Amino acid sequence: MPLNVHQFPCLSDNYGFLIRDEATGKVATIDTPDADAIQAELDKLGWTLDLILNTHWHPDHAGGNEALKKATGATIAGPAEVTRIAPLDRVLRGGDSILLGETRLDVIDSGGHTLGHIAYHDAKGGVAFVGDTLFALGCGRLFEGTAEQMWDSLSRVASLPDATTVYCAHEYTASNARFALSVDDDPALKARADQIFAARERGEPTVPTTIAAEKATNPFLRAPLLRPNAASPAEAFAEIRAAKDSFKG
Ligand code: ZN
Ligand code: FE
Repeated sequence: MPLNVHQFPCLSDNYGFLIRDEATGKVATIDTPDADAIQAELDKLGWTLDLILNTHWHPDHAGGNEALKKATGATIAGPAEVTRIAPLDRVLRGGDSILLGETRLDVIDSGGHTLGHIAYHDAKGGVAFVGDTLFALGCGRLFEGTAEQMWDSLSRVASLPDATTVYCAHEYTASNARFALSVDDDPALKARADQIFAARERGEPTVPTTIAAEKATNPFLRAPLLRPNAASPAEAFAEIRAAKDSFKG
């Protein structure tokens, strides 16, 4: 049976994700941006939290660990770096997997935004939770890692099947689209950007996305095509990332 994914806005531009293994009723939260908001969603759904899965240590991802554990007794799993700010019961690394009931989530090393960032992939269900690694038309800032590390991480995520539904942790898509249009004039990007601006006008989320859509239009994944003279794909990526960091759109 598939995972039931419940997505809701949190803080100023985060998304919260509660996921339920339909076979067993086991429930996890992907990250803990806001303990009160997550608890309110659990109450609304009538779900009981069993597991907290962190992607990285940033406060808008692990800041609610302690309060939620206290309230629910849930087990917390995530990368070791989470202990910088929050409790952690089980350390996860790339190549590990963790069960939520009968659903197996494979752990992908996606360091770069933070050194220890990880993503979660339900291969059977075709669903991935990528935190602040890959965004719709964007990617996370390089706060801790190198461009090379982030390029490797993005390449691992991009190698998931095209049909994979990708849940990113922030609604940054409209500003990402404005930047993307400044470095890429591909018609598929223009068409997607129009859809994104219209969806945001209507107040609709642009998350989740898919691997296919990101491979076709995300300027960070398309960096080697957009910067053909760069010394390497990672260098091309570094150039696009640097351009985004100084973009005033
Ligand atoms: Zn972050
Ligand atoms: Fe974040």
